[in-house]
Amino acid sequence: MRIACPICGERDRREFYVKGAALERPVEGAGLEAWHAHVNLRANPAGVIAELWYHEMGCGSWLTVTRNTATHEVLKVELASESGLGGAA
Ligand SMILES: [Zn+2]
Repeated sequence: MRIACPICGERDRREFYVKGAALERPVEGAGLEAWHAHVNLRANPAGVIAELWYHEMGCGSWLTVTRNTATHEVLKVELASESGLGGAA
């Protein structure tokens, strides 16, 4: 699988560290149940999902990669800071 980093260009997936699903964080002041669900309860769908990937052996950017987990087709790659998902620094 190859991922087109917006900064480095197309690279092998082994250059990246995958963190998992890119989820919206609970709002400020959200209760324990909301944080528990955010941190621990993850769906594992066979289909299209947005994930956070870190370009560990490249530019060091956090990316939001939208891909189909059943086919491994990469549908979209963007900087996580621009996708509004995941909250990665
Ligand atoms: Zn990169």
